[in-house]
Amino acid sequence: MYHKVGSPPFGTRFRGLYLPTWLLARQLCEWKSAGWTSVSLEEFIEPAVPMRRRVGLTFDDGYASLHEEALPLLREIGFRAIVFLIADRIGGSNDWDTAIGEKPAALMDRTQIQEWIEAGQEIGGHTLSHPSLVRLTLPEARREIVDGKKKLEDLFGRSIDHFSYPYGDWNPQIRDLVAEAGYRTACTVERGINQVGDDPFLLRRIMACRPPRTLRTLFGLMPG
Ligand SMILES: [Zn+2]
Repeated sequence: MYHKVGSPPFGTRFRGLYLPTWLLARQLCEWKSAGWTSVSLEEFIEPAVPMRRRVGLTFDDGYASLHEEALPLLREIGFRAIVFLIADRIGGSNDWDTAIGEKPAALMDRTQIQEWIEAGQEIGGHTLSHPSLVRLTLPEARREIVDGKKKLEDLFGRSIDHFSYPYGDWNPQIRDLVAEAGYRTACTVERGINQVGDDPFLLRRIMACRPPRTLRTLFGLMPG
């Protein structure tokens, strides 16, 4: 059985939720001591190793706090994660959030992202400017998806293969645009476990922070 691509969204606009560092530390320690390890999205879609007790860690937006607080924890525990970046906001702030009254927060700059990569962590795409893609015309949505991917590839000199829909908003046309852009997976914010044969462009995730996920509550969501 495939175990889940879990998702502590360290800082995401989705319901204004942030994962406290203590909770991330607790979750990582619990998984580690129960014999779990992390799985990359690449390994998940083309597994060369059994997926038992494997969890995928995803973070949306790429806040500077991820570099400051989560990266040392990931390094210590030996887990890998992916952060989905907004290509036109690198080194900027969450202007899509502050427009609706959320607190401003710094996003990782290029150097911090480089350090994240050098530490063995991964990056993925989250559009150019964090729009709700379903509210755009198709050409606008295509530009956000395609240009966002290319910009990250040019900036960091690596292939960007994984995507996360801003706000989790998708429809069949947007899903197809992401696939046509050359991405290999895409994460939604729909809750659940991913299993063999599931659409790789509609991966489900589990919010790490509400309710605070422990191994026990995570097991409660698993089939069988
Ligand atoms: Zn986001």
